[in-house]
Amino acid sequence: MFTINPTHREQSFGTLAPNSTIVFFNGKSALMTADGSRLPTSAELAGVLDAGTTMMFAGTMDGAECWGARMPQEFVLPQGFELIESRLAFVHPNPDIGYAISRCREFISWRNGHRLCGACGAKTSFATNDLAIVCPACGMMYYPQIAPAVITMITRNNGKEILLAHNKRFTTPSFSLIAGFVESGESLEQAVAREILEETGVTVKNIRYLSSQPWPFPNSLMLGFMAEYDSGEAYPQDGELSEMGWYSKENLPMIPSRGSIARKIIDEYFGLA
Ligand SMILES: [Zn+2]
Repeated sequence: MFTINPTHREQSFGTLAPNSTIVFFNGKSALMTADGSRLPTSAELAGVLDAGTTMMFAGTMDGAECWGARMPQEFVLPQGFELIESRLAFVHPNPDIGYAISRCREFISWRNGHRLCGACGAKTSFATNDLAIVCPACGMMYYPQIAPAVITMITRNNGKEILLAHNKRFTTPSFSLIAGFVESGESLEQAVAREILEETGVTVKNIRYLSSQPWPFPNSLMLGFMAEYDSGEAYPQDGELSEMGWYSKENLPMIPSRGSIARKIIDEYFGLA
């Protein structure tokens, strides 16, 4: 079980208990055993990771402390370990692994973004009584920032068809659900309706929440929704999406790979494996 401990601290790798769990990142990947079953312990990395490496405390996993760090460029992978895409950890049989990876990744990005106070420029430190970074000079507090994003499956034709779109930023020719960030002052339902109208030109009705997934690249929380088509013709509107169309279970295009909430929603809706 992963337990959040409400104290932040940084410590050098050499001072960690040997049974500590280490979340070690390289881009969007994390170091795991080659069979993908678990994260490494500090004892297993003792010979390959510099004792002075700064580690960030994230919580406790099955009774052992969990620490995260970014992998230095010159790091040589130890035998028996591999870099595994973080998103695959979100479908790992042990949900704590995905949780630990998300948390460590977001913490490190948050800490690195607030080494200096944005208000007065002084060096910051961790608050002692709160999950926050504090400026000792002016008292400004910085909390971990989570950026909510909505992702929606739009259905039509009595639910037989769903709207899927290709985004120009995708590195594969896959088609996904319509997604976008929630704006300040907006409800989630308003964000769903606005994003869909902006990107596809259609209006929707009967918006309802499905499920969520942390997306720590670097700090999003994806909130999955369903909505029914109401009016308009679906056509790429704003230059972000290059192609879109209505698809049934029988004629699905390439869809996002496992580990993404888009794939989970599509799989569950059509009863795919
Ligand atoms: Zn300050």
